[in-house]
Amino acid sequence: MTIFKIFKGDICSLAVDAIVNAANNSLLGGGGVDGAIHRAAGPALLDYCRDLDGCETGDAKLSPSFLLPANYVIHTVGPIWRGGYENEAALLASCYQRCVELARQQGIQSLAFPAISCGVYAYPHEVATRIAIDALSASIASSGNRNTIEEITLVAYSDQMLAHWQAALTFSRSEY
Ligand code: ADP
Repeated sequence: MTIFKIFKGDICSLAVDAIVNAANNSLLGGGGVDGAIHRAAGPALLDYCRDLDGCETGDAKLSPSFLLPANYVIHTVGPIWRGGYENEAALLASCYQRCVELARQQGIQSLAFPAISCGVYAYPHEVATRIAIDALSASIASSGNRNTIEEITLVAYSDQMLAHWQAALTFSRSEY
């Protein structure tokens, strides 16, 4: 069974097995949560990421966490919101699915996600959080008895995002 939790604050402070980074295609750092993770992990993370050779939108790659309290960072690249006409929903769902897949392959038990694409990539927050919960639930369900993830923390960096995560979780529970 996997428990969903919500945490308001800096994802870099979490001592979970892996934190997810909302990165860009280069994986060479950026603003928002990406900048915060690179600052907290130290310059060795950037050196490591240079050898990862970038990341496609909707895909994910794993790295060590260097100075962070978590053990790993899973870098994923969310879609830029372009009005919903560019396959954004499937790409966003794919980010969450690929992160769960990589986490499972690594035997990870606790995983924390920021609200992927909800910053400079401007995905509408209410829809993005619902897609996230649906994709995570579906990935875990399809893992069956190969699932290793016991706890997923959804991280909000603002009160507004906190409300969206809470609403999305409540909505998904009311569906069953
Ligand atoms: P994207 O480019 O995918 O939109 P951003 O980093 O701009 O990524 O934003 C993604 C989400 O992460 C936003 O909701 C933003 O407020 C949030 N965020 C920014 N910094 C942090 C942090 N240190 N910890 C957790 N969430 C953060």
